[in-house]
Amino acid sequence: MYAAEDLRRNWFTGEKHTKKTYSVMIQIQIPEKVNMIIQTLTAAGYEAYAVGGCVRDAVLGREPADWDITTSASPYEVKALFSRTIDTGLQHGTVTVMLGKEGFEVTTYRVDGEYEDCRHPKEVQFTKSLLEDLKRRDFTINAMAYNEESGLVDEFDGIGDLRRGMIRCVGNAEERFTEDALRMLRAVRFSAQLGFKLEANTRTAIRKLCGNLRKVSAERIQVELTKLLVSPHPEKIVDAWETGMTKIFLPEFDACMECEQHNPHHIYSVGEHTVRAIQQIEADKILRLVMLLHDIGKPSVKTTDEAGIDHFYGHPAVSEELAGMVLRRLKFDNETIRQVKKLVCYHDYHPSRTPAGVRRAANKIGEELFSMYLKVQRADVLAQSPDTQAEKFAALAEVEQLYEKILEENDCFTLKQLAVTGRDLMQAGIPAGPGLGEILNHLLETVLEAPGRNEKEWLLREAIEFYQKNAV
Ligand code: ATP
Ligand code: MG
Repeated sequence: MYAAEDLRRNWFTGEKHTKKTYSVMIQIQIPEKVNMIIQTLTAAGYEAYAVGGCVRDAVLGREPADWDITTSASPYEVKALFSRTIDTGLQHGTVTVMLGKEGFEVTTYRVDGEYEDCRHPKEVQFTKSLLEDLKRRDFTINAMAYNEESGLVDEFDGIGDLRRGMIRCVGNAEERFTEDALRMLRAVRFSAQLGFKLEANTRTAIRKLCGNLRKVSAERIQVELTKLLVSPHPEKIVDAWETGMTKIFLPEFDACMECEQHNPHHIYSVGEHTVRAIQQIEADKILRLVMLLHDIGKPSVKTTDEAGIDHFYGHPAVSEELAGMVLRRLKFDNETIRQVKKLVCYHDYHPSRTPAGVRRAANKIGEELFSMYLKVQRADVLAQSPDTQAEKFAALAEVEQLYEKILEENDCFTLKQLAVTGRDLMQAGIPAGPGLGEILNHLLETVLEAPGRNEKEWLLREAIEFYQKNAV
């Protein structure tokens, strides 16, 4: 990973620096529009800084996702200075300033009031002190501010923690996690995005307070879990397990971590295999969720034979069902749930390695998901026993080649590709109704075996014959 190493390489060539000298040394390239907003506010007598994630990312040489600005001006004062603004969250002090098509969130310095039930502050109060605003932020690396005039404001040694590769709470970890329990999961999410470690007190506090995650909404957990999974270090989910967090929002994962598999295909527990499989697939939300959940049903179907070999008969179907439950519980959208479930269902499906066998597989899985299905199988094998891999990769490559050929030749494997439609059949005298679907399926079955038959005349004749024979 580049983060901590780059910092060391660039700025820490053996010399010792004080916190102040780091600040002086660090210059951030702020986008022109952000600077323009900061300067407009400053010229009107207020303070304004880029703050939070964008400062962290800019220091690390990463492209910030968005630039947030913090200011001593009240939301109404901000609105008065810019011609186009949106009231994004006035009660929290946030106004979006529009410059062209781009929007920038400008938030008034604030302190969070009393926290209610480990979730949200009951109220927020505005303040005139930048330091107060930085103190309410979650981690030292997220609590830095920057503008061209003052340079970097880093009261909590965020730069030191970037250099050390540490996720550390601002202030007392237990207090900060008691205020807002989601911060515990955010700690692991940032450690996964940046390849950082959890600082010892931060980790200990999570172990103690992880139960409070129960009070956090599923939607907020979903956001952090997804960011963790699609990060460069999804294996950090093991930290979420080790500190007790997954037990709260994903106990099915804990069951996998505790499930050994003595089986010639495997050398890891179900949980460790799962984590390795996640690492072996590209950072796509659907694919990473599939790998997270593909074997989630294994613990509940495990049996051990007389020879001491573990079996997991029927686990894909059980995993599919459990995956659906987990994703619904975490409030994922229906389309995500549909795709993940289908890929989990077929993750262990091995078609016969013939053109017809692969056309059948493509028909079941669908063109939309078939290339993902191949990626899932590859990642699954990569996380299995190395002894069995060569054979499995050879089989997979064969399926891949057969599939490519099917696409190349434009072989029919869906109803849509069939050379006749329901309307054609009706025009040929077959009455509308459920029988029509049955005939179309029969034609598709025939064409899956013999693609040369996908020809209108022949199909119509076959349809009529089938209709008469079966009186459907
Ligand atoms: P990302 O790249 O994911 O956007 P980010 O650091 O910008 O990372 P956000 O969730 O967008 O993270 O939050 C912006 C900033 O607001 C953070 O950097 C942090 O200073 C502060 N913040 C966000 N959520 C919390 C929280 N739950 N508790 C304390 N501070 C928070
Ligand atoms: Mg952000």
